[in-house]
Amino acid sequence: MARRKYVVGNWKMNGLSDAIGEAQTIFSAADGHGTVDVAICPPFTLIGTMAAAAPGKAVGGQDCHSAVSGAFTGSVAAPMLADIGASVVIVGHSERREGFGENDAEVRAKAEAGLSAGLSVILCVGEPREVRESGGAIDYVLTQIAGSVPDAFDPQRLAIAYEPIWAIGTGLVPTVADVAAMHGAIRGALAARFGDAAEAMRILYGGSVNGDNAAELLDAGDVDGALVGGASLTAAKFVPIVAAAAALG
Ligand code: PEP
Repeated sequence: MARRKYVVGNWKMNGLSDAIGEAQTIFSAADGHGTVDVAICPPFTLIGTMAAAAPGKAVGGQDCHSAVSGAFTGSVAAPMLADIGASVVIVGHSERREGFGENDAEVRAKAEAGLSAGLSVILCVGEPREVRESGGAIDYVLTQIAGSVPDAFDPQRLAIAYEPIWAIGTGLVPTVADVAAMHGAIRGALAARFGDAAEAMRILYGGSVNGDNAAELLDAGDVDGALVGGASLTAAKFVPIVAAAAALG
């Protein structure tokens, strides 16, 4: 099955209101690469403004709570994201798993909340450096997949992002062969559990993707796109990644 390439910017805790123009520049440039789906996930504070400034474009959150409402000071529910114009949410990013102690069950509940709110979900998995070095990366990630992917979903609305923790923001990237092996293992695990639906699911790679390495990473087996942190903050750095995805069809 042909899967459209998907390139997603995770702005993390970066950007004030003057960054909206940059997002508009990115979305306009992405229009010239119409074979690629592009989304930007800015901080919560910018989602509403960005969605209003870029009608029809995919703007998303970087996290959501698993409940729809309640006494959860400081948290944002998935229906709240949808209410201000978001169409996407990232769940289970390693900076949430590690920094906020989120486990697979919570990530799964957040994914279910996002799907129930009508959002597309990008569910992150990835191993720490010592696990990669000990040879246990695939087992580790497949355990995360087993524990955090919901049982029922529209495969068009749930993407997996494989993000080795040691590659995030470090300039380090796995070999193309290691990326292909991991993505193939993830696809295999999804197929064993969900059958044909696994073929429709997109599996993104994330971790120090930039304009120079995007073409070869995106061309690796079972890589359907990229989740991009640092290089998604400016059009100058992000658009070449979108272009590399477009060149691969
Ligand atoms: C990320 O945070 O999801 C990420 C991949 O970051 P970076 O591209 O900066 O490594």
